[in-house]
Formats: sequence, C-alpha cells, structure tokens
Amino acid sequence: MSNRNIRLRFAPSPTGPLHIGGVRTALYNYLFARKNGGKLILRIEDTDQARFVEGAENYINEDFAWCGIEFDESIEKGGGFGPYKQSERKHLYKDFADKLIESGNAYYAFDTADELNSMRLAYEVGKKTFVYNAVERKHLNNSLNISEKETAGRIKNGDAFVVRFKMPENEVVVMNDLIRGRVEVNTSVLDDKILFKSDGMPTYHLANIVDDHLMQISHVIRGEEWLPSLPLHVLLYDAFGWEKPGFAHLPLLLKPDGNGKLSKRDGDRLGFPVFPMQWTDPKTGETSRGYREDGYFPEAFINMLALLGWNPGDERELFSMDALIEAFSIERVGKSGSKFDLEKAKWFNHQYLIKKNNDELADLLMPTVIKNGILVEKEQLADAISLVKERATFVNDLWDQLDFFFKRPQQYDAKAVKKRWKANSFDLMTELKGILANIAGFEAQNIEAVVKQWIEENEYGMGAVMNAFRLLIVGALKGPHLFDIISRIGQEETLERIDQGLHELGRKE
Ligand code: GLU
Repeated sequence: MSNRNIRLRFAPSPTGPLHIGGVRTALYNYLFARKNGGKLILRIEDTDQARFVEGAENYINEDFAWCGIEFDESIEKGGGFGPYKQSERKHLYKDFADKLIESGNAYYAFDTADELNSMRLAYEVGKKTFVYNAVERKHLNNSLNISEKETAGRIKNGDAFVVRFKMPENEVVVMNDLIRGRVEVNTSVLDDKILFKSDGMPTYHLANIVDDHLMQISHVIRGEEWLPSLPLHVLLYDAFGWEKPGFAHLPLLLKPDGNGKLSKRDGDRLGFPVFPMQWTDPKTGETSRGYREDGYFPEAFINMLALLGWNPGDERELFSMDALIEAFSIERVGKSGSKFDLEKAKWFNHQYLIKKNNDELADLLMPTVIKNGILVEKEQLADAISLVKERATFVNDLWDQLDFFFKRPQQYDAKAVKKRWKANSFDLMTELKGILANIAGFEAQNIEAVVKQWIEENEYGMGAVMNAFRLLIVGALKGPHLFDIISRIGQEETLERIDQGLHELGRKE
C-alpha cells in the first residue's frame, strides 16, 4: 500500500438527511486525505432505489458547502474516475458478478421470496433461524445444485435470480483495522450475501467494492456499523485478486447518557439537532432542526465533531480546519463510542463567537436589529457587541444582551422590581438624576467617579443605588457595566429613561 496514491471516499446513500455521525465520517476522511496529500471523492451510492429520498442528495451537497468539507472529485466537480453516482455506473457491475461466478466465488440462486419465507417460518417453528449459508445452500434452489446447462436454460428463460457470494466453509478471515488492529472472524458465522439482482442492479456490497477498486481508493474510513461487512469485503477483494485498501471503522456517536447510538429521534426528544442543517421530510412534511439554523458557526460545529472520537493527545480543544488537518491522525481515534454533549457543543460556539471580530458579528446581527424596527450604525452595533459578547453563545443571544442600547425599556422585570425597587429608590434616583444632569463630560470613567463619590459621601450603599439605576436604564438586572451603557446611550437619553422609570414605577409605599 505504501506506494499507492492516497485516495479516500465518502460514499453516502441518499436515503434521508445526513446525520451528524455521517458528517463526522466525511470529516475524518477529509482530514486524513488533506493531511497525507491525498484526494477525497464523494460518491453517491444509490443502488437501492426503493430507499431513495427526494432532496437527500442536494442536502448532502449543501451541508458540505456549509461546513467547509471540500471534495476533489464528485458529481459536481467531475474527475477522472466518474461517473460518481452508482445508478449511472449500472452497466459496470454485471461483468464483475460474472467474473465471480466464473471463478467459483459466487453462484446463481433462484429461490423465490415465497420459498425463502416458508423456509424461515419452518425454522422458526423449530426455534431456529434460517440463514442462507454454506450449509443451507446445499439443498436450496441454486446453481450449485443443478447442472450448468440447466442454470443457463433458466436464465435464458427469464427466471428471476440473484447472485450470491459463495462464503468459504469454516475458514478464518484475518482483517486489519487501522483503529481496532487485528480482527478475526470464522466464515461459519457468515451468510452468502446477495451481490447482484436480475433487475440488473448490484447490491451495496458488490457496487461498493467494485467502485472502491476502480476509483483506486487507498483507505476506507467509515462507521462502525459497517464492521460486520468487512469479512465479506475482504473476501471479495481476495476473490478478485485485488489489492485491499486500509480499513478504519469509526466508533459510534452515543446518546448524551452513553446508552446507545445517537439516533435521529434523540434530537427531538432531548432538544438538540442531530442533523447539520434543518430537514423537512418530503413525505410527512415533518421538520427536524439543524445546527446551522440553531445558530452554530460551521467552524464550531466542525471543531466539536472532530473532537467527538478523536483527540490531539494534549489539552488543546480549539482547532480551525487547517489546524485539524495538521494535528489529525487516525491512530488517535478512540476505540469506544463518544457521548454527545450539548453543553460542550454550545461552549465551542461561544468560543468562536468571542473570537470573531465585532464588525463581523455586527453584520450577522444586523438583520435581527432591523427586524426589531431599530436603525443603527454598524459601528455603534459593533461597539455594543464588544461589551456583551462574553455573555452570548449564539449571534441571536446578542440581541437580548444589548437591545437596551438602542431602545428604552418597554416594561420593567417584575421580579427585579419587587426585589430592588425599594421605599427610598424613588428619592435616590431623583437625586441621582440631578447629579447626572450636571456632569460635563459624559464618559464612563468620569460618570463613575462622580456617582461613586456621591454615593460614598451620602453613605447610600452601592447596591441600593446601582440596582435601582440599572432597572431604570435597562428594565431588568442584566447587561454589562452600567456606566458603559449610559456613556453609550448619552446624557439626554439617560435622564429621560430615569424620568420614564420614575413615572412608571412610582414611589414604593
Ligand atoms: N453507502 C454506504 C453508507 O450509506 C457506504 C458505506 C461505506 O462507506 O462503505 O454509509
């Protein structure tokens, strides 16, 4: 494998929206390819037409464009190994199925669905499970039990058939997984999987192996759910006499409590997205939320996903895509499943939010500001953002954290009023208004010095004054340093808000 070009592929089936586990698989493929100077291919595996879902392929493309995973070869990009959609490669697979039959590694099976069903039922009665395997095939309706001539006749006659892999009897298959190391399995526990159907379509197993070979894939990185297929895949490579790629099976993404695989339904049940972007089921019209629509930055989403199963071997947690490429190695992917952690996902978003520059955040927040009927210069908005961004997880949180810079309180938080608007608050605020009206330079530091001196001289108590004051300016007990707020809204507005508040809250009896 050493002098092979490094070529990886992500091979989704368009059967619905891509789950975040699938995005993580694509990400690790991308990181491995980039790190090793290789190529990444996007191949759509749509041989199972019955499971095709409208819009799923577009969703896949849009998702990768959003989160910054780039492919070197794909339907959109083209490349020297196309077509990149299996339904368009349909004509290729039959020859390979024929080759396996010729070499004695596969056979025709004519068993009808009814025959197989009654077999299954008969076994169930005897408390056994029917498996189409090396033992059972000896008495079933297949080409191993009839002459070549009869087989040819039946096919010519148009009898429906499938091509099955002839699993060797009682042999040990030795596999090497880049994450798990050596894995062994005895073929006696494996069945004779269907590779090809008489409708001319290959199954996943045949199409996947043939395409990986034809596309010169050097490494297959995929989810753990495909590990049970690995012995068959390895045996198929051997049957064809082809060089095998390196295999790596990624551990599962687990529910937050660690109890089982993170499923599509968990998101709705537990209140977080399991899809990168919102998805509306074309049949039921049901909508599932997505990270993008929930306000996550793609960089934060990718950073979070990368660390769900891989670690850099040190304490670092924040990685740009370039830094991930630099640090990634498949050896550092863990063997056991990783628990999804919503708080951690939010933490990542917060980290990216505070790192963004204020102008960029202002651009992102501006539509919300406008929707709220406020007109404000970008610089003013960016300035307010700089004062509150430490308190926000998402861009939309910023509005709640800073709307009072641009609008007067519409109401006063009832709990805060009950707790902080005291018997002497009305008089204190009236007096404070007089002090503020006489300040010449209305800069934060200056106002703070004057107000504090007034409080100290009169022994009014810092809490009593500042809480009541905040209530009048903000309408609640939230927000950054109060003197920063009033210096931004200005002297006139500050005095007017005090007036409005005194009027609304009145003197407490
Ligand atoms: N089409 C398969 C899937 O949907 C690909 C599995 C593989 O990577 O071999 O995940």
